[in-house]
Amino acid sequence: LHRNPGETEFHQAVREVLESLGPVLVKYPEFADYKIIQRICEPERQIIFRVPWQDDQGVVHINRAFRVEFNSALGPYKGGMRFHPSVYLGIIKFLGFEQIFKNALTSLPIGGGKGGSDFDPKGRSDREIMRFCQSLMTELYRHLGENTDVPAGDIGVGQREIGYLFGQYKRITNRYESGVLTGKGLDWGGSRARTEATGYGVVFFLEEMLKVRADSLDGKTCVVSGSGNVAIHAIEKIQELGGRVIACSDSNGVILDEGGIDLALLKEIKEIERRRIKVYAERKPDSLYTENGGIWDIPCALALPCATQNELTEKDARTLMANGCIAVAEGANMPTTPEAIERFFEAGVAFAPGKAANAGGVATSALEMQQNASRDSWSFEYTEARLREIMTSIHSTCFETADQFGQSGNYVVGANIAGFLKVGRAMVAMGLI
Ligand code: NDP
Repeated sequence: LHRNPGETEFHQAVREVLESLGPVLVKYPEFADYKIIQRICEPERQIIFRVPWQDDQGVVHINRAFRVEFNSALGPYKGGMRFHPSVYLGIIKFLGFEQIFKNALTSLPIGGGKGGSDFDPKGRSDREIMRFCQSLMTELYRHLGENTDVPAGDIGVGQREIGYLFGQYKRITNRYESGVLTGKGLDWGGSRARTEATGYGVVFFLEEMLKVRADSLDGKTCVVSGSGNVAIHAIEKIQELGGRVIACSDSNGVILDEGGIDLALLKEIKEIERRRIKVYAERKPDSLYTENGGIWDIPCALALPCATQNELTEKDARTLMANGCIAVAEGANMPTTPEAIERFFEAGVAFAPGKAANAGGVATSALEMQQNASRDSWSFEYTEARLREIMTSIHSTCFETADQFGQSGNYVVGANIAGFLKVGRAMVAMGLI
């Protein structure tokens, strides 16, 4: 704690992983001998830099940006960039730390990293976004490379931002290095199914978790928080597999649509018009919008937090369970507080932690890198089938690992131990670096 003062989210993420690892250190003393725990908690490199840019009125703004290159034992640093006013070093370090284990769980050759800026894209014009991205990349490019560090999107960073970042990288380096960023457009090196991958992957994981309980998504009422990339595609896949999503949200309020969320309308408002979720209720009068509403007060069988960290509290967990919730799958990173997770475990609610359940996004980013490296482009069906295979394998790895360590059904412990073992073994093999 004293080495990283004030980084509360980072402390929370580290504590959760370390709480799972006691039995591993007993079984494999070499991890303690090589101080793998201490080394894994210390990023290999942290870059913090100034991003000056001008708005449409000519006013100059200064933001701060970060890239934390956390661990490269398994491959080049890989993890998204987040643009949100709440971003500071503690958020990027928590995300980068989680990313190490998540990426290991995919079994693909990617290390862990994360970046972002305290820039707030809300209400900014396309040109302002472009100028900001260009300024950011003017510093960041020197730290990147398809074999070094490969950023992608996260909150506030989608295909538009990746386009501006990639354009500036290409311009500065005079290299068409497709594999340096993922989440690109299909015409310029992107992978089919990447946009959908995180949301779809969460639902595939949830489906596997329900299968273990001889249950399915069919006919289940679901609530999905957020209305961004992850939430929209989770809703899409749940609907395809027979579930009924009745609510979603943004940071201003909650939409309740008992007849089932109209996905086409939601996409129109959020992806094309880039407007607030309350517009949904204006266009669909049989739905209800509640400003600052509590999304977890809405009764459901399945809850998918897909917005941001610590959005589902202990009180929310109690309300969800009282209303009959049987499973929770995290689309966002660390959206459930530790106390809420405890309550779910006590009550036997199936719980899928983000570092396992939302790994489909980064896994498909690694598939994008494979396509870029071989100058190939796969079909949607093939890529989605690979994603499904990967999610099924992550599920069984977590399930079996938890079982081996006497914690049957505890996917938090399963994910932490399985991810740690892969990275830890590679670090031991590579010596003291
Ligand atoms: P988007 O920016 O597309 O959407 C984020 C959504 O969450 C928006 O609806 C946003 O509402 C809401 N939100 C963000 N911050 C807050 C907040 N502080 N309070 C309430 N609501 C908030 O991001 P993504 O969908 O890509 O990411 C969502 C989560 O999933 C994040 O935790 C991210 O780290 C995680 N994730 C994303 C992956 C990806 O592939 N994109 C991969 C793995 C994990 P508003 O518009 O009002 O801000």
